[in-house]
Amino acid sequence: GMASPALLMRVVASAYSVAEKAATIVRNIMAAGDLGIVEKTGANDLQTKADRLVQMSICSSLARKFPKVTIIGEEELPTDEVTEELIEDGHCEEILKKPCPAQYTGIKEEELVIWVDPLDGTKEYTEGLLDHVTVLIGIAYGGKAIAGVINQPYYNYEAGADAVLGRTIWGVLGLGAFGFQLTEAPAGKHIIVTTRSHSSTLVNDCISALNPDHVIRVGGAGNKIIQLIEGKASAYVFASPGCKKWDTCAPEAILHAVGGKITDIHGNSFQYNKEVKHMNSAGVLATLRNYDYYASRIPNTVKQSLVP
Ligand code: AMP
Ligand code: MG
Ligand code: MG
Repeated sequence: GMASPALLMRVVASAYSVAEKAATIVRNIMAAGDLGIVEKTGANDLQTKADRLVQMSICSSLARKFPKVTIIGEEELPTDEVTEELIEDGHCEEILKKPCPAQYTGIKEEELVIWVDPLDGTKEYTEGLLDHVTVLIGIAYGGKAIAGVINQPYYNYEAGADAVLGRTIWGVLGLGAFGFQLTEAPAGKHIIVTTRSHSSTLVNDCISALNPDHVIRVGGAGNKIIQLIEGKASAYVFASPGCKKWDTCAPEAILHAVGGKITDIHGNSFQYNKEVKHMNSAGVLATLRNYDYYASRIPNTVKQSLVP
């Protein structure tokens, strides 16, 4: 008979269903109307009831199935017992049918680190920019982002009541990424996607130095990687601290699975072992294609302002 699926594929298959449950929670809390907004470090760093309940749901659901995996979530929460209605124990059968890349078949639970951003784009969620929001579950092994799930709970929300609301994108290095149509950005144009709610002089100076044809300002690291893989933007440029490992892990795995590249503004790759500093202090530079073009044009003055 068939050998049982590799651990990595079982984790991704479960993360897929857990992210869909998370999306339902995100939509239900918005529909109920009481967001329970709390300021963390300030007015541009918020937490809502959705961030809290979704993190409990994702972390508890995955921990039950994979008790030896390290799971790191964005939100600091009291370690209460989680209610059963937040637990998802399903998985995506389609994912289990795919072959695990050979280099990952021997991975053990204690070797995986899962980085969870329960709701990426919280500021935009509170402002009704709902399609900026994503749920991010990134899976790391040996310090590298190797698999990820991005759920976009409000994908299609402006397309009318007939359109299917929400989608789940997932990927594994060496296997590919699924749940969207890979699209190249317009050739010969420099379209930069960057932050909407965390701008600074440095962020804007860096973008100006790249001589963009167009700048797209939207919320969320997950959302910005989607802009790259769907050909809406040619580079994600964020010359500022603020973005964290849970923002970049799942997006990095999916972007790398389709041949893209993400680094800090100096060109250093991110590390995702459990001991690593959470903050991506030296910003973010990501592209699907032509990484070197953008990397070579980041001004030295910008680099000197961002210490890794
Ligand atoms: P943005 O592109 O502004 O949506 O940022 C992408 C991710 O990084 C989101 O999770 C933000 O919350 C986070 N982030 C970026 N800059 C900051 C900041 N200055 N303070 C707090 N979080 C930030
Ligand atoms: Mg985030
Ligand atoms: Mg978040």
